[in-house]
Amino acid sequence: MGWGDEIMAAGQARALQRTDSRKVAVTDAAGRVRWHPAWQGNPRIATRSEAAREDVQRLTNGPGCRPYVDYVRMRREFARVHPGRPFTTKVTGARLPWRFTDWRAEPGEIYVRKALRRSDVVVVEPHIKAGASPNKQWGWGRWQDLVSRVDVPWVQLGPPGVRILDGVRHVPTSSFLDACAVLSGARGAVLPEGGLHHAAAALGVRAVVIFGGRSNPANLGYEGHMNLFDPVSGESPCGQSVACAHCARAMAGIAPADVAQHLENLL
Ligand SMILES: [Zn+2]
Repeated sequence: MGWGDEIMAAGQARALQRTDSRKVAVTDAAGRVRWHPAWQGNPRIATRSEAAREDVQRLTNGPGCRPYVDYVRMRREFARVHPGRPFTTKVTGARLPWRFTDWRAEPGEIYVRKALRRSDVVVVEPHIKAGASPNKQWGWGRWQDLVSRVDVPWVQLGPPGVRILDGVRHVPTSSFLDACAVLSGARGAVLPEGGLHHAAAALGVRAVVIFGGRSNPANLGYEGHMNLFDPVSGESPCGQSVACAHCARAMAGIAPADVAQHLENLL
């Protein structure tokens, strides 16, 4: 995932400091201290040099050791399909579904340099991250339909040249943290499951989050958000990284009119 993962790690660091005030060094699976720009300015998380000279507590969270991933089950399924091959999540991610533990995210923190005063804008994000599972995409037509139903000052973030929905103002942003600064001033947001929904939770921004069927808000969702998930088929969350008919059905079951209603309730 990337930014979303590291924002969740910041949530874990905050939770750890409730019982232990030492800074938190986030380590990879091999125990090496990691650093990520999502933690810029975060007084709870130790930089590598702080971890080397101070008494810190440790949190294992990194590629291959995310708390919401059931690696034991993925390993077992991998071994069945690729007997004798060394397990990697990269290969697994492409060909076998992700499996999830019962761990639940709590809001992280982002220390944006210039948080904005709250305005009336509502952020909408019709794009998913390049390389993300296509099952996270609600569909351009549905995003456009949603925007036409609710009369608010819609804003879309992202670099110059990004495709913008009709009726939405583009606020160009040059980086994820830049986007977070704008998001911090929004009245609300409608977002796909991904980095920006974790950012919205960290920044205390109300959001409707389109989950669909690939991953479960019971792991990756936040209580303060309206999380739209399809548990109807009994196959959810499927964890599929390749386009999946079940996820397409789940997304089709999330009607723009209902999302519009959820947003109006939230604002
Ligand atoms: Zn699916």
